[in-house]
Amino acid sequence: MTQLDERQRFMFSDFAVRGEMVKLDEAYKDVLAQREYPLDIQLLLGQMMAAVTILSSTLKFEGSLILQLKSSGRAEMVMAECRNGKDLRAIARFDDSNTEATLMDGHLAITIEPDEGERYQGIVSITGTSLAESIQAYFAQSEQLETRIWLAAQDGRVGGLLLQKLPENPDLPGLPASDEDWNRVVILAETVTDEELLELPIESLLTRLYHEEQVKVFHSAAVRFFCSCTRDRSANAIKFLGYDDAIELLSETEKIDIDCQFCHEKYLFSLDDVKQIFAQETAPEGTVLH
Ligand SMILES: [Zn+2]
Repeated sequence: MTQLDERQRFMFSDFAVRGEMVKLDEAYKDVLAQREYPLDIQLLLGQMMAAVTILSSTLKFEGSLILQLKSSGRAEMVMAECRNGKDLRAIARFDDSNTEATLMDGHLAITIEPDEGERYQGIVSITGTSLAESIQAYFAQSEQLETRIWLAAQDGRVGGLLLQKLPENPDLPGLPASDEDWNRVVILAETVTDEELLELPIESLLTRLYHEEQVKVFHSAAVRFFCSCTRDRSANAIKFLGYDDAIELLSETEKIDIDCQFCHEKYLFSLDDVKQIFAQETAPEGTVLH
């Protein structure tokens, strides 16, 4: 059976250009089923999901890659997260009364959050009206890596393709790509239609594009919609609120109800739970909370 949601890495054998392709179907539909979005926001959300999947493929550790954009267009905030290269979740906030463009003036943040180690964030201004342009600008400015990305979303399906010219590195198999090599593979990729990105199986599209090049294809990896929310992380939201405010909230309601924005999972915290959260927090100092 053909995998509906997958990402696929490839490399050119003769020169150091790497590629990544992604196709999303069920994962995208699952995200769209969580909330009602207007069509333009649905399409942008899909492109964000494809982009975050593609970009997370280079992470070599457990953790998340998060793409977040804020704009003064109809899309006020869109966030997509890919955890461990396979678990996707995404959300958007939009202003339906805004009749201007979907995406305008704002910024795009790329955050890498390893489970262990330091968090890294790079930010770039939104360039033009497409997400792909802003991502390309990010790589040119922050990473000095020539990168091209194509994203297509339509009718509950998403497709994406990335090409990246790798810097000189003795550990890499191929020679650094000449301008001629790079331009040739980019020009060929530019012939890809949205329909092909969405419809063609990944390997067929690679054959159609690069049958005259030596391309090494790696194992494809399955991706899915899976929310990484947990009761412990919801407890952190209560910690953030502070003990006094949490107790005050509990005087109005029997339990604090934390509703995950991504998947609508509910986490309920009673007075005892709240006491326990803060007892753990302050235990080393020996504070007694009543
Ligand atoms: Zn969740």
